[in-house]
Amino acid sequence: MVKQFFLISVLLLSAGILLALSDAASSIMTGDSSTVEQTEQENQIKNITLINHGGSLEGHTPRGFAGSGTGLFVGDNLNANFPEGDGVQAFITFDISPLEGTSFESVVLTSDNVHTRGTPFQDLGNLIVESVAYDRFSPRLWDQETTGFVCTLATEATSSVVCDVTATVSSLLEKGESLLQLRLRLEQAGDSDGQSDMVLFYKRGSNINEPGIFTLDTRLTQQNTEGQKQDQANTALTVPIVVHLVKDSAEASTLRTQEEVGELLKESQKIWNQAGITLEIEIDNQVLSEDLINATATGDFRQLYTLPRFDTSRLHVFYVSDLFGSNGVAVPPHIALIADKTSVDDFRATAHEIGHLLGLEHTTESRERLMFSGANGRVLSDAEITFTREFVQMGN
Ligand SMILES: [Zn+2]
Repeated sequence: MVKQFFLISVLLLSAGILLALSDAASSIMTGDSSTVEQTEQENQIKNITLINHGGSLEGHTPRGFAGSGTGLFVGDNLNANFPEGDGVQAFITFDISPLEGTSFESVVLTSDNVHTRGTPFQDLGNLIVESVAYDRFSPRLWDQETTGFVCTLATEATSSVVCDVTATVSSLLEKGESLLQLRLRLEQAGDSDGQSDMVLFYKRGSNINEPGIFTLDTRLTQQNTEGQKQDQANTALTVPIVVHLVKDSAEASTLRTQEEVGELLKESQKIWNQAGITLEIEIDNQVLSEDLINATATGDFRQLYTLPRFDTSRLHVFYVSDLFGSNGVAVPPHIALIADKTSVDDFRATAHEIGHLLGLEHTTESRERLMFSGANGRVLSDAEITFTREFVQMGN
């Protein structure tokens, strides 16, 4: 790929807020005012924002006839000639070479240019993102095999979307790739209701796939220099958590393995890194008594507090088969549950429920926020960071 063809916008933002807050909290705890001074030179957190390529490497293609065009949209019944039950997929590309050699905490795909026509989510399911690899945009891309599921971008009509692509970007960079290429599609190609059900991404007009409709926001890892590591360690806070995989407990049993949950929790940890909070995890299998299986099956989750030797000095996250369709449930002060099937990323659901156990309420301000219910946001506000850090330090 010829790099200079790509339109790249790199914004380097100095955002020292996180550490300033961490250190303020630390000063309160230790009474050591020198901590704050050291922080002055340490505010190295930077974000890199990349925008989608636009133009010839992007577009949409239907399955039923060999056509393709400009415009980033997915769904069915695009026009009168559209084959019955068929649909359209969209493809977008980012040049991720500016991220080579950087160390990052997270990479998030977002768009604030989302439009909906008809009832795509009700009729055709969730809007999902898969990684693909191609040299040239063409109608054949419909049949291109995916290199992996990336994330769920939306589950309902909305004007903005966000999803985590950290793992995909990391793995591409490790392989020396410089392009992130994504297929956007609804779970079902189309139905036969004769109605047009579409999700469209555009700024000026629906047939223009211009750069900047999507952005890729990368939060870089704090670059520590000598002498500063100790300072940061002083400010890190730990939340001990026992993770219970409910096993051999009839219909309550989770299908997740310890290995899967361990990987999932690594991603949850990245979210809590924003607050300088370390999740200290112990994973155990948990067999429930018949009474507790029944309690779980009837939604009486509070009964889990009656488990023998229940340790109230730690939080307890239970992985169970299902929760009446909920992704997760928090039963403060110490218990949260996560279902096997989640409509958002499971690690995000886990981080969200932990947020509740650290005293946070829902927000409706933005879907990008961790505490926005039922979406894939991961951002903690400054106020939430301050609150949870104080909450942890108070020994709640
Ligand atoms: Zn919630």
